[in-house]
Amino acid sequence: MYKVCKFGGSSLANAEEWKKVKAIVESDDDRHIVVVSAIGKANKKDDKVTDLLYLIYQHHKYHVDFLPLFEAVKEKYLTIKRELNLNVDIESEFEEIKERIEDDDISEEELVSRGEYFSAKLMADYLGFDFVDSKELINFDYAGKIVEPETLECIERAVSVHEYMVVPGFYGSYPNYKICLFSRGGSDVTGSYMAKGAEADLYENFTDVSGFYMADPRIVDNPRHIAQISYDELRVLSYMGASVLHEETILPLIDVEIPIRVLNTNQPDDQGTWVKKHVSGRKHLVTGISGKKGYLAFSFIREKRPDNKLTSLLQVLDIFREYRVPIENIPTSIDSFCVVVEKDEIEEKYYDIIADLKKVPGIVRIDEDENLALVAVVGDNMVRKVCAPAQIFKVFSDNDVNVRLIDQGIDEYSIIVGVSNADFGKAIRALYDSFAHQKVSE
Ligand code: ASP
Repeated sequence: MYKVCKFGGSSLANAEEWKKVKAIVESDDDRHIVVVSAIGKANKKDDKVTDLLYLIYQHHKYHVDFLPLFEAVKEKYLTIKRELNLNVDIESEFEEIKERIEDDDISEEELVSRGEYFSAKLMADYLGFDFVDSKELINFDYAGKIVEPETLECIERAVSVHEYMVVPGFYGSYPNYKICLFSRGGSDVTGSYMAKGAEADLYENFTDVSGFYMADPRIVDNPRHIAQISYDELRVLSYMGASVLHEETILPLIDVEIPIRVLNTNQPDDQGTWVKKHVSGRKHLVTGISGKKGYLAFSFIREKRPDNKLTSLLQVLDIFREYRVPIENIPTSIDSFCVVVEKDEIEEKYYDIIADLKKVPGIVRIDEDENLALVAVVGDNMVRKVCAPAQIFKVFSDNDVNVRLIDQGIDEYSIIVGVSNADFGKAIRALYDSFAHQKVSE
């Protein structure tokens, strides 16, 4: 067996957590590659190193003293080093980075990546593994898109040289060898590429919960644990708000079918959640329910002319493409269509986009609904049952939740419903109560 394991920021928040990580890694010789995040929060009031690094960059950019924050980050790493009696020299590297910030000689991406870098340096020393820099392994193009063949080749080469290694998550390099970051939470994706490049049998993702639950425990009390979930189901649930894994984690693994096991650093013997291409033997109709608030729906009312139907839609979509605003949903009807986007994605460009949208010929009116939440009901087993959408409507009408839009995926394993932000929690709880224990056979 060859295993890649990844430890998230909360599993590295203090020396006690590091000891748990070491015990886990050392309990199984098959754990050859360890991917680490930056140090995370030790408690609710604590700060994540990655957030502090972004702040340091901004402080310096706007000529505000960055040193207190810099010292706070440095102290987090030096405390781990001291408490675990480690030797690796990170002090001089911190000094060098400080000088480079002062000299405007470091990019934001490189500075932010140092959280993972220093975690990996210390972890390699602690475990007695080789440190291998992801800068040498993960290749991006200039658009920030991963170049998979080169990346896999580099990982393969590293695996042939280093039997046991620690790799920093979250970053790689552009073709000019400068640091490029994944999006936030991207160390999960580093782990996937490491697993694929190493042709691993298993990718273990250690975090601070024992895998996935049917709904967000902050919204639903004691939700049902999910023992197995398919790549496809997980992708929708993560995209729609389930935050345990980065939504792109599964992408590199789909074609090679390497399973992921999400495990808890604090309770490593819990069964966790298996994520696989195909899961079998599950009896429940619905696997998970997730959702997000903060969407904006633009409704476009068209002139009633048949030739106008496609052109106005295409022109509107083109405007969103130009401004690089991802579209979440496009429900259409005879004389109108709707475009749903995330509010955060549009905020800064809002007035420019509106001005351009108003110029599209054939549109008589544009309405906006800015209090939209989307809720996803997901389950491979729904394919085998005709009643799921009807049950969702019934749940909502029984609970006075007004449905603003509904979209059933072509593959029929996900149904996405739009409700108002105010109804979000109520909608998730009502759906959970209705579907939590329902079996396919019922
Ligand atoms: N440290 C980075 C973040 O906070 C990446 C990661 O932890 O995966 O987003």
